[in-house]
Amino acid sequence: MCLTNDELDVKMDFRSLALAGTMLGSGAVIVMDEDTCMVEVAINACSFYTDESCGSCTPCREGNRWIKRILDRVKEGASSEGELSVIEELGENMREGCFCALGMAAPNPVLSLIKKFRDDFIKHIELKHCPRKVEGN
Ligand code: SF4
Repeated sequence: MCLTNDELDVKMDFRSLALAGTMLGSGAVIVMDEDTCMVEVAINACSFYTDESCGSCTPCREGNRWIKRILDRVKEGASSEGELSVIEELGENMREGCFCALGMAAPNPVLSLIKKFRDDFIKHIELKHCPRKVEGN
């Protein structure tokens, strides 16, 4: 899950991060600047979980694939704002229906990015390229 520039002063401990709606996880921190495409970040996170899924249960196996397909369409500008709601619904179903912790956690980065950078996703759809880059990506 991500923190915005307004949350840079959040302490890096379990309690503070939980209060900010995120978690310490493995303790790794990825810092992104204002040129980073949030749709690309979401696609990369979703691709990781799609690859890591063992495929045993349907919500994880199919949920990751569905979310990845929609994100690819968002990137191409071939999606709609309504499909962001589909991602959110799929993510909630994964949190509740996946068999193990990997699947339950899989939608968290994407849901967090859509929640905190929703305008980026909508502009991506409207402009058919990344709003953070002049030439698109
Ligand atoms: S939730 Fe766990 S058991 Fe289910 S497919 Fe994903 S990795 Fe496998």
